[in-house]
Amino acid sequence: MKVFIVHAHHEPKSFNGALTQVAQKVLSSLGDEVKISDLCAMKFDPVSDRRNFTTVKNPDYLKQQAEEMHASEANGFAPDIQGEIEKVRWCDLMIWQFPLWWFGVPAILKGWVDRVFAMGQAYGQGRAYEKGVFRGKQAMLSITTGGIAEAFAEKRHPLQEFREGHGFHGDIYGILRPIQRGILSFTGFAVLRPHIVHAPVRLTDDERRQCLDGYAERLRGIADEVPIDVGLY
Ligand SMILES: Cc1cc2nc3c(=O)[nH]c(=O)nc-3n(C[C@H](O)[C@H](O)[C@H](O)COP(=O)(O)OP(=O)(O)OC[C@H]3O[C@@H](n4cnc5c(N)ncnc54)[C@H](O)[C@@H]3O)c2cc1C
Repeated sequence: MKVFIVHAHHEPKSFNGALTQVAQKVLSSLGDEVKISDLCAMKFDPVSDRRNFTTVKNPDYLKQQAEEMHASEANGFAPDIQGEIEKVRWCDLMIWQFPLWWFGVPAILKGWVDRVFAMGQAYGQGRAYEKGVFRGKQAMLSITTGGIAEAFAEKRHPLQEFREGHGFHGDIYGILRPIQRGILSFTGFAVLRPHIVHAPVRLTDDERRQCLDGYAERLRGIADEVPIDVGLY
């Protein structure tokens, strides 16, 4: 299997860093090919504008999707984008490793999506969902949170006081829907159950090591996993 990990954390010694190291080690030991884009280490530029292109369709008015279509026809993407597009095309499984920031992905990863998942490359001309460009590929979010697991329960307990606890933040699947449905499923990926480590900062070293072992164990069997439905909640 060809696995592409998009890693979005600024600190190599972070728990996110440890998760990516585990993934690289385990998958490589299984004989999988692994490519990693460590966005912060690469200093990936997340700002989407004319710098995305070496071609120009309309110099007087920047209409992003029109320029993306034009660049798709004229081989006109900037090298940093082209390199990432090729890694997405190459992989069978794409893993995004990131800490949940403001109920979403860190800005550097959002900018990566804005620039790399360009019209003509990742979607367009009726290619979406079941007819998506990346159909046949799988994707998985591997995330960490600051909040504890109970805080992401589906419904808030009616007697719950306004403090962190049952349902404080709401359903994690609802939080991840714009990513899993709006980006991954939209572009044709089959989405695997997200791998979530809640509040690693509140765990003991032993508990954190167990989480890393649990991730390794899951990755050993990931080729046999069945995708989840990301459309119905
Ligand atoms: C801008 C911003 C927005 C945020 N928004 C949200 C939000 O919306 N919802 C939410 O729930 N949280 C939110 N958070 C919190 C954030 O999600 C967590 O801080 C993050 O997920 C923790 O992961 P980390 O990798 O940064 O942990 P770290 O703090 O790097 O790691 C946790 C602990 O693990 C230890 N560790 C590292 N490697 C290993 C190893 N190999 N073995 C054992 N221990 C190890 C580290 O030393 C550290 O003590 C936000 C944070 C920021 C900065």
